Amino acid sequence: MHELAITQSMLNLVLEQAEKAGAGKVGKISLVIGEMTGVVARSVGFYFEFLSKGTPAEGAVLDFTETPTTARCRDCGKEFELGEFDWTCPHCQSNNMEIIGGKELFVESIEVE
Ligand SMILES: [Zn+2]
Repeated sequence: MHELAITQSMLNLVLEQAEKAGAGKVGKISLVIGEMTGVVARSVGFYFEFLSKGTPAEGAVLDFTETPTTARCRDCGKEFELGEFDWTCPHCQSNNMEIIGGKELFVESIEVE
């Protein structure tokens, strides 16, 4: 259900943008999904297919960019990708870090026709 709500709000945003641009049809939608959001691209694509039926976004191509979970070490300041169960800085072995990437979820761009 998580993806259904997300797909619905994404579609609303896309349709709003398409209308503003005076577009009759949406050709391509580029989405950025962070690994930490737990959103499954395949599910979004599935929901999109039926939610977009009868709208200008019907048949649009979804292009997903999945971003890895990244963190910045508070001790040495380096940035790195976090493994799922490995929350240790690979440079100084510290556990003191902040998450700086992987929680993104947004529409990067849309192409209209
Ligand atoms: Zn470090």
